Amino acid sequence: MNNQGPPGPYIPRHMPEALKGLVGLALDLRWSWHHGSDQLWSTLDREMWESTANAWLVLNSVSGQRLQELAGDADFLALLAAQIAEQDAYNLRDTWCDSRHGEQAVDPVAFFCMEFGITESLPLYSGGLGVLAGDYLKAANDLGVPVVAVGLLYQQGFFRQALNLDGEQLEFHPYNDPTMLPLAPLRDDAGEWVRVAIELPGRQVHLRTWRGRVGRCELLLLDSNDPRNEPGDRGITSELYSGQLEKRLQQELVLGSGGWRLLEQLGLNCRILHLNEGHCAFAALERIRSFRQQHGLSFEQARHSVRPGNLFTTHTPVASGIDQYPPALVRLYLGSCCADLDLSVDQLLALGRDPCNGLGTTDHDSTEPLNMAWLAIRLCGRVNAVSQVHGKVSRKLFRPLFPRWPEADIPIEVVTNGVHTPSWDSPESDAVWTRACGKGRWCGAQDLPAEPLCAVTDEELWRMRFRQRQRLIGYARARLVAQHCEQDNPAQVAEACGLMLDSEALTLGFARRFTAYKRPDLLLYDEERLVRLLNDHNRPLQIVLSGKAHPNDSTGKAILRRWYRFINRPDVVGKVVFIEDYDLQVASQMVQGVDVWLNSPRHPWEACGTSGMKVLVNGGLNLSQFDGWWAEAYQPGVGWAIRPFPEFSRLDDSPAHDGPDAEELFDLLENQVIPAFYDCDEQGLPNAWIGMMRASMGQLTPYYSANRMVREYCEHFYLPMRQQLEARTPEVGRELDAWHSELTLHWQQLRFGQLVIAQEGDETVFRVQLHLDGLRPEWASVELVADPDGEWPPQKVVMSRSGPLAGTNTYTYECRVVTGRPAAHFTPRVVAAHPLASLPLEFPGILWFR
Ligand SMILES: *Cc1c(COP(=O)(O)O)cnc(C)c1O
Repeated sequence: MNNQGPPGPYIPRHMPEALKGLVGLALDLRWSWHHGSDQLWSTLDREMWESTANAWLVLNSVSGQRLQELAGDADFLALLAAQIAEQDAYNLRDTWCDSRHGEQAVDPVAFFCMEFGITESLPLYSGGLGVLAGDYLKAANDLGVPVVAVGLLYQQGFFRQALNLDGEQLEFHPYNDPTMLPLAPLRDDAGEWVRVAIELPGRQVHLRTWRGRVGRCELLLLDSNDPRNEPGDRGITSELYSGQLEKRLQQELVLGSGGWRLLEQLGLNCRILHLNEGHCAFAALERIRSFRQQHGLSFEQARHSVRPGNLFTTHTPVASGIDQYPPALVRLYLGSCCADLDLSVDQLLALGRDPCNGLGTTDHDSTEPLNMAWLAIRLCGRVNAVSQVHGKVSRKLFRPLFPRWPEADIPIEVVTNGVHTPSWDSPESDAVWTRACGKGRWCGAQDLPAEPLCAVTDEELWRMRFRQRQRLIGYARARLVAQHCEQDNPAQVAEACGLMLDSEALTLGFARRFTAYKRPDLLLYDEERLVRLLNDHNRPLQIVLSGKAHPNDSTGKAILRRWYRFINRPDVVGKVVFIEDYDLQVASQMVQGVDVWLNSPRHPWEACGTSGMKVLVNGGLNLSQFDGWWAEAYQPGVGWAIRPFPEFSRLDDSPAHDGPDAEELFDLLENQVIPAFYDCDEQGLPNAWIGMMRASMGQLTPYYSANRMVREYCEHFYLPMRQQLEARTPEVGRELDAWHSELTLHWQQLRFGQLVIAQEGDETVFRVQLHLDGLRPEWASVELVADPDGEWPPQKVVMSRSGPLAGTNTYTYECRVVTGRPAAHFTPRVVAAHPLASLPLEFPGILWFR
């Protein structure tokens, strides 16, 4: 285990000696979720802590006089000492990783991502991808998996939202003052601020580095706002997800090339490089560049040498969601990188293009862009999607890279996303779970009993729900007052908002990006039917909504306006509310308070969706399209699914199913959800509902956690990948390069001869000849395969080789199959073989017997 120790001697302001320990506490972002130090920050400056939830800002803005006072306050010093002791104990404790993989996990995993959503006071994210990266990092810390995360420090995070009186979205871009973010400049041993430089056309760009701490893990952030840079370059990291393609490419170069250089400059020997989404694929390119120079290899030799150490996680379900750069931009920005790699720009482009256009050659004069996801796949040794459904979608999406391969064999694995449970639980549910399963239950291997909540009574669970709902309603009312403060009479507004929502009513939550495929307007499909549900006097439904539309998404904005008009209908006032400016804080309040979480994307377009997982720990139930994670988690009794078990064969985004899906959503609400909530026994307890809460909380919470996700990445990816990488010495890199060239040279010439099928007893014998041209016979493998057909499962048998036929390079391959299956089901095929290669990723050739 590498000991990253406390942050360097970074003391930003004069601190009394007795309080210096506050610096180390304020710079460890664990305060954002563990709540142990809340009282400490609140004592320093209550108002600042409550309005910003930023411990670092509290520490930097509190007056010197107040610090002096507290330095002599025995109670405060005791509180501080207790927190420091707690932090030390936490950071030194024996973790899951130490006990399970102690000897192996020495060097940190490098985890790259464009955005990180850890806390609202570090607003460097826009949505799901960033929140997931934040949850990943927190869970890695809990488990003791050493991770160094690399990202960008944006001067502006994602836009902040308000709605005007017409329901139009207004967008604001507040400035992130980096010195007030809970980060410290990264300094070297001599106290110098660490900088890295990358080359852009005709110039160098200097990058400043910042360091955030998530317990034992680190978050390193690069920032181009260095006064030594040209003014334009200072703005490269100015905003998150710039709409300008060129700036986007600059950002990805800063992140990828700058990030990997930084890790090397710091002497961190990261063996595993995890690319979270294709944006960061240039990190893998930089890794090759560096390895090549160290070992005097060609580009291809170096690519083969490091590839098993790279993992690519794709999060995108649609081709248009992938970054693609036109050749001219690539030529301009990557020309010097290519020269360093001894690679032509066309060769680089070919790594991010469809191999069937120009048959993978580099001489086709194409305008085809460089696809960052394809580049990532060609530089990585393993690839994964983020839910089972997304796995299927991705195998379709990435099929062009594996021409003629059956979809099921396309090497995209799956790790279903999860959420960092301790960041999303409410104080009430934390208390219930602590009593049932003890403290620290979410940090280790999560070996919970099958029914973890059996000691908790129905009454307690129902009281927990009530308090959570009540708190959300209080929060929503306060937010609504603030949202409407521009209106004429503030007192009236406050009074009106105080009457909104009902603490006893079934509360449905919907919060996400407002964009067409997520169908935030599915409930508006039949407005009158919705109005009837909201106005049912005995069994009312109420709705809390939130979500932003991307600034360029006019459809999303139109949906916002529709909801806004609906909310202001006189007959539903106070029953549907919209909380502006959806962010981590709003999300956290909503997932704690709602009874039902609604998600209604168009199938199969939700890659995973994690927001619904956040309600599990709090006893909220999911009512969702059978898509993303819910397609794995759903079973009757844990929640409700719209159109369970659908088939999809084509990827289309047509609204054809919107009507029937909306119908089904209303039917579920009317016939199942609402009755279950209001059907109470004599004690006022809805037994069926509470039964579902128990099932959902107990069965789903541990599995749909980032804790489980990180353990999967660790055990199924990082550790085996490290072993594979160990075996890839530069010599093996050379050997595999030669192997690859030979295969490329001869593959088109491979030719099947005759196929002979004979029945011998109850065995069917298949014999086929294959002309290997000049290829070594060990480098090809002939397989006999059968597709699934009716009751027959898919089958694959490796055929054994004999020969060659005299004077030729033609071999006979044979196998015997004992099934009653018709011989016509079976077809031989030849694929590449090598004991050390990961196939078909590293050579996707395939030839079928026809
Ligand atoms: C969890 C979360 C998301 C991702 O939710 P989806 O289910 O993917 O829509 C987005 N934004 C915030 C603020 C979140 O907390």
